[in-house]
Amino acid sequence: CTASAKSEDYHSIIQDDEKATGPAAKHEFQAETRMLLDIVAKSLYSEREVFIRELISNANDAMERLRYHHVTGVIGSDLGAPLEIHIGADKDHRTLTIQDTGIGMTEEEMVDNLGTIARSGSKGFMQELKEKGDGVASSIIGQFGVGFYAAFMVAEKVEVFSLSHKPGSKGLHWVSDGCGTYEVAEAEGVKRGTKIVVHLKPDAIEFADVDKVNEVIKKYSNYVSAPIFFNGKRI
Ligand code: ADP
Ligand code: MG
Repeated sequence: CTASAKSEDYHSIIQDDEKATGPAAKHEFQAETRMLLDIVAKSLYSEREVFIRELISNANDAMERLRYHHVTGVIGSDLGAPLEIHIGADKDHRTLTIQDTGIGMTEEEMVDNLGTIARSGSKGFMQELKEKGDGVASSIIGQFGVGFYAAFMVAEKVEVFSLSHKPGSKGLHWVSDGCGTYEVAEAEGVKRGTKIVVHLKPDAIEFADVDKVNEVIKKYSNYVSAPIFFNGKRI
């Protein structure tokens, strides 16, 4: 006898509601970030799937941070949308999307967090390269972890839609092909939290394959406290 699936086990918040409403401000990545992106995009690292682990981990962090504000009373008693991670694989559009209902980012936070290398892992990676040369890149990506930038191992373009939990925040659209610059514009239709759309390179189409992505999510989601939905189905 199998228990019938609960309806809350099947739902998706991923919809194509967001639209950049320009004008877009063009920014240059910090020089060190530019170097990192260049190396990451060209590296022959064999475990490219770790970018999914990095994006899930960021989504989980963003929700933990919101939960913390909530329990410490920094924000009001109403948490609003439930804390969930939604992942969608779309082979036709060659995209992998990861959306969370976490803390979100303001424009300043987007520029600071996605335009510069603040994290220790990326710094360690660049330091090791300086000492040992670019040739070691592929063998040390996994060791240090390059966080958000790992998406550029498989992406020809990454879009980030975000709406900060801070009252009065505007929806934002961040986009980059990882080649030196990124653009930030206001956007409408953005839900609280962050949605990352990874536009896959032709040689990375496997990351839009339902079975493959399902396997990778299961491998890396043990430590994640929030519920994960994949193509609308609770994992
Ligand atoms: P780390 O997670 O180690 O800080 P990352 O490169 O993975 O480094 O991410 C850089 C920063 O970008 C994060 O610290 C966070 O401030 C911001 N960020 C990334 N993803 C998200 C997200 N889904 N929601 C909110 N902020 C995010
Ligand atoms: Mg991270």
